[in-house]
Amino acid sequence: MSAIDGNFSEPNKAVCNGEQRKGVRKMAAIQFRAKVGGWSYPRLVTLEKGRVAMEVARINCSHCATCRGRMNYVQNRLSGESQTIYAGGGVLIQLDYPKGRGRNLISITQFLSEKFGLQIHPLQ
Ligand SMILES: [Zn+2]
Repeated sequence: MSAIDGNFSEPNKAVCNGEQRKGVRKMAAIQFRAKVGGWSYPRLVTLEKGRVAMEVARINCSHCATCRGRMNYVQNRLSGESQTIYAGGGVLIQLDYPKGRGRNLISITQFLSEKFGLQIHPLQ
């Protein structure tokens, strides 16, 4: 065992112990596709570490008039409580997911419908 091995393994151990001490329950990330009313193809939705994100546009199409309009609408509506992130080839809007709220697909898409002001339904 070299000094380098020791350096690599220690930070991981510290993270695991810290989570156990705080009693943080490990919750698996949730990922699914949703149908958004009036929008054509299904959108990726992810819930991870208390943050929910929904794809609004594909990165390579985000400058067309339709996508730009949708991004502007969502960013204005959720200004101050959302972040724009880029993942998996998409432009996603990410925001805090309330702690007590259900983690099933219906609860998640209901939350997104309220926030985005759109009809959002999970695709099974
Ligand atoms: Zn586009």
